[in-house]
Parts: sequence; C-alpha cells; structure tokens
Amino acid sequence: MTTPTTPATAPVTQAVRWDLGYDIHLGATWSRFMQGLREAKILANRCPDCRRVFVPPQAYCESCYVPTDEWLELPGEGSLEVFTVVWHGFTGGPTPPYVVGAIRLDGADTLLMHVVTGLDFSDPATVRDQLPQGSRVRAVWSAERAGHILDISHFEPAG
Ligand SMILES: [Zn+2]
Repeated sequence: MTTPTTPATAPVTQAVRWDLGYDIHLGATWSRFMQGLREAKILANRCPDCRRVFVPPQAYCESCYVPTDEWLELPGEGSLEVFTVVWHGFTGGPTPPYVVGAIRLDGADTLLMHVVTGLDFSDPATVRDQLPQGSRVRAVWSAERAGHILDISHFEPAG
C-alpha cells in the first residue's frame, strides 16, 4: 500500500470572501457599558478586592475571581499608551490610514482600544513622533449614539 502524496503544483491556499452579519450577545456587563455610551458616559467597574478599575468593564476580576459589580463613570480623557497605524483597511472599518490606540483613561487600570485621529500621515516616518507614549487624548462623541463602541466616534489629541 502506498501513501498518497500532494503534487508540488497542488494549490495550498484558496481565496474565500467572508461577509457575515451577526449579533453579538453582550451580556449584562457589556450591555450596561453600551447603554452608558448611548448616554455619552464611559462606565467602568471596580474589583472589590484588588480595587482595579476596568474599562471596558469585566463581569469578574481575572486576578481575584470575584464579581466586579461596583460601577463608576470615567472622564473621556486619558493617556495613549501605544498605537499602531492601519495602512490597509477592512470591510466596515474606517478609511485608512488611521491609528488604533490603547488608551488608559484617567482612573482606569486597563486599556481601551479605539481610533485616534489628528495625525498627519503624509510622511510615515514622522507619525510616531506626533504621538509620543503618554500623549493626552480625549473622546469625541458621535452626534447620534446607539449603544455601540462607535458612540465614541474617536479620540483626538488633547492639549
Ligand atoms: Zn481583583
């Protein structure tokens, strides 16, 4: 008996286009977070044991294994910890180039990922210098909000 082999000319990839619409079940914690966004509020929650503040909120603290059911509102301003420039977009996303940043809102112990605007992309070599680590950024709210992460339209440099 012989083992079948794959000819060297056999295709190893196949182009497939996925365009799926689906609903994400938010659960109680994220549902409350999204309702806050609809009201132009950034809601976070705090672990009763280690006192860390989570935004986006978490149902449980992954360190203490306890529910995080103390809620608070955070300001829409914080520090940009790190970012990446997206040069090639994807279906449903913003028009590139744009920046996705990890933002530590004032009072938070976790990072919120979001789009950051206000940069000049004409010379890619200068983009990093325009937003040094720790740059202050602030949330810009969408005029119409629907309980979605894009109720925060984007973040922009603050000061
Ligand atoms: Zn904890």
